[in-house]
Amino acid sequence: MNTVHGLLVMRLADMRVVHPQQITSRCNLCNELVGIYPSGQRIMAAHPDVELICERCHNPRDVDVHYAAPGALEERAESVPKKT
Ligand SMILES: [Zn+2]
Repeated sequence: MNTVHGLLVMRLADMRVVHPQQITSRCNLCNELVGIYPSGQRIMAAHPDVELICERCHNPRDVDVHYAAPGALEERAESVPKKT
């Protein structure tokens, strides 16, 4: 098993809602644009070496995603529909 300290994030293209304070970065594996909610940004601040893994690249068999994002549930209520 290839253990990666990863933060599971969502591809921007796959997000139906966005968070007003989210930032954009790229998946470490596929280089697609991903959105990072404030909870994920806090994990990145605490663990600067964390790898961003998008939900499509995330495979529980070969990537062990360690950091579930605390506070992610409240953020769902703060999110707004994505403008297309
Ligand atoms: Zn990816």
